Amino acid sequence: MNTEDARTLRHWLSTPQRILLIPHKNPDGDAMGACLGLQQFLLGFQDDVVVACPNEFPAFLKWMPGAADVILHTKDPEGVARQIREADLIFTLDFNSLDRTGAMAEALETTRARLVMIDHHQSPGDYAHLTYSDPKMSSTCEMVYRTIQALEGEGKLSADGASCLYAGILTDTGSFKFASTTPETLRVAARLMDCGADHVEIHRQIFDTNRPERLRLLGIALNNLKILPSFRTAYITLSQEELDQCDFRKGDTEGFVNYGLSVDGVVLAAIFIENREEGIVKISLRSRGAFSVNKMARAHFEGGGHINAAGGRSAESLEETAARFESLLPDYKPELLAV
Ligand code: 5GP
Ligand code: MN
Repeated sequence: MNTEDARTLRHWLSTPQRILLIPHKNPDGDAMGACLGLQQFLLGFQDDVVVACPNEFPAFLKWMPGAADVILHTKDPEGVARQIREADLIFTLDFNSLDRTGAMAEALETTRARLVMIDHHQSPGDYAHLTYSDPKMSSTCEMVYRTIQALEGEGKLSADGASCLYAGILTDTGSFKFASTTPETLRVAARLMDCGADHVEIHRQIFDTNRPERLRLLGIALNNLKILPSFRTAYITLSQEELDQCDFRKGDTEGFVNYGLSVDGVVLAAIFIENREEGIVKISLRSRGAFSVNKMARAHFEGGGHINAAGGRSAESLEETAARFESLLPDYKPELLAV
């Protein structure tokens, strides 16, 4: 965050504010970590700091300090609408356009509150009064750390706040393996450990608390993996029936798409997950190198994201969606072979 924006934000925070923190719909570790980490920091000097989520977040993030007090729009739409109406300052974290909040977008478009965006997705919208956007950043959590640093200098984060931010950096960098991980990312992670983030326990909570049903679902997903060597592409499908068989819960399919990318030679991986309740197929795309799944998601699947990790949706059936994906590949072949 530049010094002028930091000065502005410091000024806004110099008086008591009703503050609301909002992640994107289907929030991941980075979105939740950013909200809950920033909440912990703000609670050091502000009394009224609430996190409101568009919908439920995964069970493997429920250990985060403050998670139990998060309000969900799906469970309490009127309560969330009131918070948006009455807020003075709203931080929108880990997304670049208000429609990423689903049913909360309308209220956010008309709120009287000041809006602050902190986000690392490409093509930021212009809805916020203060925009801190940087697609080169590993994670929104890294940006929240830098924001706190710009506001307060070093050492003002509790172990609880540091744990949330560490968790977001950990998940959004694929445990520090993605190209987005920079020396500064690792320095931020180190400083979060200095503040008390327990990296062993955070890793265990996120990756080693599987329900057996989730591992059975992974088995089905791997069985369904289809590899298309001539396009250097692999994809997985999961039907509603398969999800139901394994008592599917939010977050269970997190990371499954990466197995496609782990096949030697594959540079484009996808997962298509049927959601009968919403009448859509949810899509996650991953890639290597210069192949942009952000562009692919924007052009064909009403979505977006980053160069190497993006998502979207389809209103067609699971089979039709997978068939359409396959039919797109010949056009992308030169790009896929060039990676
Ligand atoms: P995931 O595949 O893990 O859900 O998401 C990967 C990346 O794509 C994340 O940065 C996420 O914010 C973004 N993304 C996922 N789904 C959508 C979507 O429907 N629309 C947009 N614009 N971005 C998405
Ligand atoms: Mn993120």
